[in-house]
Amino acid sequence: PYDGPTAGEILKRRSEFLSPSFFHFYKKPLNIVEGKMQYLFDEEGRRYLDAFAGIATVCCGHCHPEITEAIISQTKKLQHSTVLYLNHAIADFAEALASKLPGDLKVVFFTNSGTEANELAIMMARLYTGCHDIISIRNAYHGNASGTMGSTAQKNWKFNVIQSGVHHAQNPDPYRGVFGSEGEKYARDVQEIIEFGTSGQVAAFIAEAIQGVGGIVELAPGYLPAVYKTIKEAGGLFIADEVQSGFARPGSHFWGFQAHGVTPDIVTMAKGIGNGIPLGAVVTTPEIAKVLTRRNYFNTFGGNPVCTAAGLAVLRVLEKEKLQQNAFAVGSYLKDGLKSLQEKKHDIIGDVRGRGFMLGVELVTDRQLKTPANAEILHVMELMKDMGVLVGKGGFYGNVFRITPPLCFSKEDADYFLEVMDVALSKL
Ligand code: PMP
Repeated sequence: PYDGPTAGEILKRRSEFLSPSFFHFYKKPLNIVEGKMQYLFDEEGRRYLDAFAGIATVCCGHCHPEITEAIISQTKKLQHSTVLYLNHAIADFAEALASKLPGDLKVVFFTNSGTEANELAIMMARLYTGCHDIISIRNAYHGNASGTMGSTAQKNWKFNVIQSGVHHAQNPDPYRGVFGSEGEKYARDVQEIIEFGTSGQVAAFIAEAIQGVGGIVELAPGYLPAVYKTIKEAGGLFIADEVQSGFARPGSHFWGFQAHGVTPDIVTMAKGIGNGIPLGAVVTTPEIAKVLTRRNYFNTFGGNPVCTAAGLAVLRVLEKEKLQQNAFAVGSYLKDGLKSLQEKKHDIIGDVRGRGFMLGVELVTDRQLKTPANAEILHVMELMKDMGVLVGKGGFYGNVFRITPPLCFSKEDADYFLEVMDVALSKL
């Protein structure tokens, strides 16, 4: 049994010694002391089904034994910076990772986070094209350093960042966007941004195929192929941010962009890549990668042996446990169940969307007006937590449930999740 500090004690120290901008879920925040596959345990030993592990980067399950073993065993052998000497761990993982990507995407740069990966990708695109302008989509989240905060387009996540060179295009949001699911119509905005706001040449277009922080918004079909054409005509690169939608989470595909039939020039990743270990990566073509030979690119811990050993174990486990297939089968089943709650029982569910284990449920108090149900979602989250289910929340208006469980989430877990959500919504 746990005999460490209580939730109250930790909260007190957190408010004294940690960032005043920290926030937490639930009126009485949970003190999580242990994780095991799809479950989390609080200080009293209470078990919770974790339907929001995706945010904490866990793709194969909390403390997955094989991945934990790989981390421990490498830690006992060597942990160092990988830049100056040779070590097999970084090469093993880079080769395995490159094999998961299409086309000529086979040169890997390792970082420690998604922010760093996107910063590096943006810099490489600027170097390669000799242009400065970046186009990203409204409602995007790409990170919290200068370039990535500039390309992030959500007021909650922006400080006094220098916006230089970043243009934000209309969000191809099938639920709230003016053109519904007609992706090509939204793509015209990218064309107009280039025509009205740039020299006609741009460095890159960056996007998440499924917006995560933005509330699980799948870009309208037809959008990415149309934008891809436009960007190529303007000499720019397409950067796919797969920090949330990568590593088998979409189920139908290993990467989110694959559902749109386009091949990016640069792919960035983090979160699921290391099952909870701080690791990020940029994968690009040999030709684009060459721009970094103009100077030295040095990242002390990027690709260190412990993190890359974890990454390799993740790829092994995804394959061995057929987790992409599970994300597809159970994710589709869960989505059907959520749709039937929307259609048959709960008017407050305005939209159910996403694919695999990246699902969103948007709550609205009026289906016609799509009025965000902000108070209601908080209440339902509390009730679900009390029944042992943890779910995430997000979206521009903060009224979307984000359901991103570990990929080992079973059909029984999905049934339990649906039952708990149904009961909680019925209590509103
Ligand atoms: N891109 C996306 C799509 C993300 O969701 C996030 C994190 N929420 C990031 C980039 C930044 O990653 P990190 O927090 O590891 O810097």
